[in-house]
Amino acid sequence: MSSAKQRTGVYPGTFDPPTNGHMDIITRATRVVDHLIVAVAVNAGKEPLFTLDERVAMVEAELASSKLQAGVTVEVRPFDNLLVEFVADVGASVILRGLRAVSDFEYEFQMAGMNSRLSPELETVFLMASDKNQFISSRFVKEIGRLGGDVRHFVSAQVAARLDQRFDDE
Ligand code: ADP
Repeated sequence: MSSAKQRTGVYPGTFDPPTNGHMDIITRATRVVDHLIVAVAVNAGKEPLFTLDERVAMVEAELASSKLQAGVTVEVRPFDNLLVEFVADVGASVILRGLRAVSDFEYEFQMAGMNSRLSPELETVFLMASDKNQFISSRFVKEIGRLGGDVRHFVSAQVAARLDQRFDDE
């Protein structure tokens, strides 16, 4: 029998900054696909705290210090075009997204539905983080960090240091 087709998945997000929730989803995603592309969106509309290059570098540093599924390759890429176009360009067949609370559902449902209309052969797969990581959001991490709270419950030590540095500069 010939070997099974390699499945490439794209996990898109803003990663401003990457949190333990994102890393939890990345770990799970590597159990679903053979090759994972973590796609970091420019997302100018969200006015990110960190530049695109900084966010790509932070995700890469997180990956370098994580233990991931053996045999699965993971790469980090920036993108600024339509997600379905990016996914087609890299030859992926699956989009991976994380689901937290019910509040994520409507947005994710609409996005998955519209992407599926634009690109019918594409599937979106939703993953849930473990209990302790489920509620973490980059938005609240930034708010807590800005107000001097301890963000190390939610992000790695290296991301916490980047946040401290950024807020010191403000
Ligand atoms: P976006 O701007 O595309 O929502 P984010 O970086 O905020 O980018 O999130 C990327 C993806 O990761 C989204 O699908 C989001 O729901 C998911 N995600 C973020 N944090 C968590 C978490 N703590 N648990 C599960 N999924 C998460």
